[in-house]
Amino acid sequence: MDRRAFLKLAALSSMGLACTAVPALARGIPAKNFPGGGPGRCFTPPTGVIRIPVRDLFKVGPGPSSSHTLAPLRIASHFRETVAGLSPDDLTRAARFEARLFGSLSATGQGHRTDRAVMAGLLGQQPETCDPKVMDRLADPQGRFDTVINGRTFAVSQETLVWDAVEHSYPYSNTLVMRLLDAQGQVLLEREYYSPGGGFFLWKGQPEERRGEPVHRFAGMTELRRVVEATGKSIPQVMLENEMVILGQDQAAVNAHLDLVLHTMAAGVDLGLKEEGQLPGPFPFFRKARRVFEQSKRLGPGDAFLQQVSSYAMAVSEGNAAGRLAVTAPTLGSAGTMPALVYVLQRHLKLPQKALRQGLLAAGAVGLICKTNASVAGAEVGCQGEIGVASAMAAAMVACATGAGPEAVELAATMALEHHLGMSCDPVGGFVLIPCIERNAFGALKAYNAALLARSEQPGQHWEDLDRVVAAMLETGKALPQPFKEMGTGGLGVTMVDC
Ligand code: SF4
Repeated sequence: MDRRAFLKLAALSSMGLACTAVPALARGIPAKNFPGGGPGRCFTPPTGVIRIPVRDLFKVGPGPSSSHTLAPLRIASHFRETVAGLSPDDLTRAARFEARLFGSLSATGQGHRTDRAVMAGLLGQQPETCDPKVMDRLADPQGRFDTVINGRTFAVSQETLVWDAVEHSYPYSNTLVMRLLDAQGQVLLEREYYSPGGGFFLWKGQPEERRGEPVHRFAGMTELRRVVEATGKSIPQVMLENEMVILGQDQAAVNAHLDLVLHTMAAGVDLGLKEEGQLPGPFPFFRKARRVFEQSKRLGPGDAFLQQVSSYAMAVSEGNAAGRLAVTAPTLGSAGTMPALVYVLQRHLKLPQKALRQGLLAAGAVGLICKTNASVAGAEVGCQGEIGVASAMAAAMVACATGAGPEAVELAATMALEHHLGMSCDPVGGFVLIPCIERNAFGALKAYNAALLARSEQPGQHWEDLDRVVAAMLETGKALPQPFKEMGTGGLGVTMVDC
């Protein structure tokens, strides 16, 4: 390649237009570079197909926790629908519901409002429209709330819940066994549900869901990189085409959900910047997003920007802690990280909606890769899977929306995740307050930095790739002791509490 052609390629690459011209890189440092031949284990990139749509990743629902609030609400709502499908004979014998909570749901569910979420779902509330005030009323220990299913009235109360064993042998830490009982306590219907993080849920014996087969097959970023190079399409284009086929929707319907996500995120910042006062919890904890934002007006431009990004992230996280609607990105505990940078892209950089949608799709690719090959649950891999993944998604979004090519998009996500590795999940008292709210601010700032660093990287002059860092996150998460995985019994969860 002559010098002029090289300079042209370099210029196009820096504008994000040379995504198909940069050859696939054989990443990974040869072991022979190291004395002793390296660690003696080989990394294999993931292969397979991600069949989950971006739509399932970005779910709208009430806070504070996707695994402990949103998923239990969805589970209870699903169980209610199942009960509604029973024969009139079975339904006539039914007397009451029982919800048995296991593992982390039992250990920290009270701090995460799991009880209210389960009750709301049984009462027929839907996550996207659930009024936080309804959830608040359900906290009354004396309260009894009636719901009618096919003409039968059921009472739901705090007594519906059983805070069961923290140690158990179910395949997922967050397990919820839903039961329908008759007047003598005999089980008429039982379903074993799991909440694997991010507001997703599954159940034992679940039939495979019929959805469209993705046009572009990849399980990790290595394969996605190959798809991008082979087709000449951008990451958002690939994700959009898969989304349309998996969900059987046209582009307008896909865009409508992306717009809802962007709107909910920005509205969360707007609302959070107006609110003040104490957040719900067992100790006095005050909102500070508004104060931080007001202070930013008296600072120089550099400091002001940092303060503003922090205030946007905390505005959404504080709202989430108060049970306001937020978006799983990838979880509700980490729901403030991406909105902070959506707000920057919208209000500071004034990017068009199309660029924001593309950024969201790129973030979706990163989130799905992390979820598929590791986890996005603090209960499974610690906070690296929540704030770490949120930061990686936000970095990819900023890089993509500002016109970076696929290599820089991947690198931005990779750097953001890499520098969260090992982060434990140790919410004080099991409440999504300390360290979660400020942690979102740090996740957003790291994400913006990662996007800037990635865009200034020379193509091919870095070693890290996303799949390797995701594998490191999984390995680290497995090695983390259980008290550091959303149990509230390790780290800050212990040292912040006096005897
Ligand atoms: S510490 Fe991190 S992973 Fe744990 S609840 Fe808070 S935000 Fe989620």
